[in-house]
Amino acid sequence: MEEGLLADVPGVISPSLIPKNEDLEHVLNVLCTTGYGAWVVGGAVRDCILGELPKEYDICTTATPEQVIESFEDTIPTGIKYGTVTVKSGNSMFEVTTLRTEAGYGDGRRPDEVEWGSSLGVDLSRRDFTMNAMAYDYARGLLHDPFGGKLDLENGFLKAVGDSGQRLSEDGLRIMRAYRFMDRQKKGIWLPDSELSSALIDNRAMLAMVSIERVWNELVRIINGENASIVLSRMNDDGVLPAIIGYHLSKEIFPKLAKLPDDLEARMALLFSGLIIEDVTVILERLKVPKAVFSRVKFLHSLIGNPPKQTELRLYRNTLGIEVVTHSILNEALGKKNDLIDKALQYPTGIECLVDGGWIMERTGLKPGIKLGRLKDWLFRIQIERGYSDLSQMETALCTIPWANGDPKDWPRPKWP
Ligand code: ATP
Ligand code: MG
Repeated sequence: MEEGLLADVPGVISPSLIPKNEDLEHVLNVLCTTGYGAWVVGGAVRDCILGELPKEYDICTTATPEQVIESFEDTIPTGIKYGTVTVKSGNSMFEVTTLRTEAGYGDGRRPDEVEWGSSLGVDLSRRDFTMNAMAYDYARGLLHDPFGGKLDLENGFLKAVGDSGQRLSEDGLRIMRAYRFMDRQKKGIWLPDSELSSALIDNRAMLAMVSIERVWNELVRIINGENASIVLSRMNDDGVLPAIIGYHLSKEIFPKLAKLPDDLEARMALLFSGLIIEDVTVILERLKVPKAVFSRVKFLHSLIGNPPKQTELRLYRNTLGIEVVTHSILNEALGKKNDLIDKALQYPTGIECLVDGGWIMERTGLKPGIKLGRLKDWLFRIQIERGYSDLSQMETALCTIPWANGDPKDWPRPKWP
């Protein structure tokens, strides 16, 4: 491996901190051979210190974006304005970002101006938390950790780089990131130091300056986290969750969340189980959640505390399918376990209607239209409710229902509730 430009901050020898990776080596080698400095930075260094395999490797370099593009065959100018170029190497992609010095955070979101820099120290100083502000010189095996991130990692402390209040007021998204990083998954909770703890509360109004899409991206990861009940409860107490969703949730709900699997919509339905559906709608609209999330959260919310009756089990099971399990888990977490829900699991789901329009037309003389469609629905409902499996049973059903009279709009549908 070629050694590139030496960093302007001291490093500690830490051989093989990052597992051997040929695609990564290639990118670093090309940059270093040309005489630039290039380091693995941020999340990947943090994950490697924790003994976890990084999902991605971000690289920072003294080369300008144009120089990065010139140095490689296959590049995408992902965020060229902010100095980021995606470089393809082997089967991997790497985000290569030019070192920067930034001036001003006028809107609390993005730096007003980005200037290319050549100091790794300055680049690290504008990162959010000490554990994310480390860089690794792969060729020399040097860890650059000017803010003591490694020690904080080892002690399980979440600390801002520099003054917590100032860093959060520069970029409100860091508030969300702080809560996300508190959750160390299997390893428990990272406690923010006292300065960061109070800054999170004092700066929560900054969240209003961040686009809701970015807030939502972080919130999803928080809700799906292993220790979501603890982190969300803290966000609620800190007034941060209310600043995001517009409602203060009752304390009692958070321990119950710990009983759920990592199912985003189920967790949201449970979190909002104390609110009426209109309020849930307001929250989901405010968060601009994807359509699928919107409808599933509302559906699961409507199921809570609404078990099927004994006579409805087959219909309920066929309509809900696998969501019967979700319903059961939700009710159990809320201390509303209902044996009928579990009993419904013995019945089939994904049932197909035994008869089609032609079969009905032959026997009734009906022509295609609304009435025919609704009669088919009605027969299908009877089939599901009674567990019918052959056509002779359907013939009998057809003879017993008064389909010749009444308004088809009032006929039963094969749906629960
Ligand atoms: P993940 O494992 O989720 O990817 P990450 O720390 O790599 O975590 P990224 O969003 O990929 O998070 O960001 C890469 C690095 O960029 C971070 O480690 C941090 O150093 C820096 N960073 C990201 N967002 C911010 C921010 N809002 N303010 C300051 N630094 C940031
Ligand atoms: Mg990352």
